[in-house]
Amino acid sequence: MRRWMWLAGFLAVLTVISEAAGAQDRLPVVATFSILGDLAQRIGGEHVEVLTLVGPDGDAHVLQPGPRESTTLAKAAVLVANGLDFEPWLHRLEESSGFQGKVIEASAGVTPLATEAEDHEHHDDEAHDEHADEEHAHGEHAHAEEAHEGEEGHDHDHGPVDPHAFQDLANAQIYAANIAQGLSEAAPAHAADFTANADALIAEMAALDEELKSAFAAIPKERRRVLTSHDAFHYFGRAYGIEFASVQGVSTEAEASAEDLAKIVRQARDGHVTAIFLENMTDPRLAETVAEESGVKMGGALYADALSESTGPAPDYLSLVRHNAKQLLAAMQ
Ligand SMILES: [Zn+2]
Repeated sequence: MRRWMWLAGFLAVLTVISEAAGAQDRLPVVATFSILGDLAQRIGGEHVEVLTLVGPDGDAHVLQPGPRESTTLAKAAVLVANGLDFEPWLHRLEESSGFQGKVIEASAGVTPLATEAEDHEHHDDEAHDEHADEEHAHGEHAHAEEAHEGEEGHDHDHGPVDPHAFQDLANAQIYAANIAQGLSEAAPAHAADFTANADALIAEMAALDEELKSAFAAIPKERRRVLTSHDAFHYFGRAYGIEFASVQGVSTEAEASAEDLAKIVRQARDGHVTAIFLENMTDPRLAETVAEESGVKMGGALYADALSESTGPAPDYLSLVRHNAKQLLAAMQ
């Protein structure tokens, strides 16, 4: 009898030890914002422990990292970042945290779009593609810092490249492949799982992309014009032939001037847009002002640079794209 109890106790201790080892075995991964956190979690599965610096409904453009972020990053083995100057604060954070792990630049290999010309009246498609191939900002942290030392305010001082490449499902497939490759290099024992998870995710992305291409193609081109509060949807717009005008610039840092606002109200009122959309992580007042003054309808909220909370309509990347498409399609009908 005693021997049995001793054995049971011994087995219980063994179980606790192996569970603790299991948790420690998970690769500690930090993602800069919630969308990348979701992709890293899906691809890493049970082999990773993902923490996110800018969570649901957060605004990654304006994060001011402090000791909390520094401590989080210091414990990570892998950092997943967007690149393309999306996280202008990242280089300093890497230095202050002493992070020595692997950096996965999720956007590596995408063809970046040039940012909008500062003059909001330039909306021809050629302007978007003009510098697309000239500027690859991959990993140029020094460049990112310089771009942010200018004065805040009206200037869209985010350099020449639009960082919101993740809004295009074709680019997101590149992100997924990059994340799988980076995780595989950091934890080669699980490479087969990472690749399988990424392949499944990429297949879902491709299927949704096909579905949305035909859904938007069924809308007359002149109806595919909307206004948003910050410039996050040009990649999405390029994929589906939608023209996005914005009240703010590419970063949420820049505030629209009264002159900008008047111009946008005029554009909206003259019937160039079918609806005005809010975004989950930005101040709704600008878009509301434009809607009121122009009489153009509000189309609801789009999820731009962050997921929703788990109970919201965009708790993961694919739900985010699906939700945004649904809102846009409804407004354009
Ligand atoms: Zn943004």
